[in-house]
Amino acid sequence: MRRLLPTARSILIHSGQSAALIGAGLLAMAAAPLAPAATSTPRQEARPAAPQVTAVARPAGPVTRQIVFLAPLPGQAVNSPFGLRKLAIDAHARQHKGVDIAAPQGSTVHVTAEGVVVRIGFDPAGYGNFIEVRHPNGMSSIYGHLSRVDVASGMALTAGQRIGLVGSTGRSTGPHLHFEIRRNDAAVNPVKVVGRRFDIVVKAV
Ligand SMILES: [Zn+2]
Repeated sequence: MRRLLPTARSILIHSGQSAALIGAGLLAMAAAPLAPAATSTPRQEARPAAPQVTAVARPAGPVTRQIVFLAPLPGQAVNSPFGLRKLAIDAHARQHKGVDIAAPQGSTVHVTAEGVVVRIGFDPAGYGNFIEVRHPNGMSSIYGHLSRVDVASGMALTAGQRIGLVGSTGRSTGPHLHFEIRRNDAAVNPVKVVGRRFDIVVKAV
């Protein structure tokens, strides 16, 4: 800014003040029918103070997005729940680590959420043809007794993608899907996970 002589500065200040006073007078006149002139405040004082801007080096939070877990067989009910099976003969079979969803042979099985196929296999005494998928929230899902597997290990899957068909392979008495969800290698109730949203860290800061 150009430096001004003290006299010039004081003139500017005075003219500024008088301009403000004129402004205040005009305001008072305008407000006169509603409020007495004495209560009106000069425009300068009524103006809100500019907020103080302070630059603070605050760490940013991680960038996240959400994924939602969907039903692998939409519209089909769970026939055998997660947990204890009172009718199971042996102790090994008593603890049901997933849910059973009955559906006609050949029904399309959808992956519950986006992820990567960890492994596929055939377990004749248990899961039959099965698929295991790892999801970005750290959980994994398993699909058993399939009649057909349509994915390979290492494949990246989008949510709801077809991965295979319902069957009755392995330890099964009729066409159904055995659907399991694991977190830290421990089975969790899929009914409590399906429909839930999870925050996925896209970029850690
Ligand atoms: Zn089962």
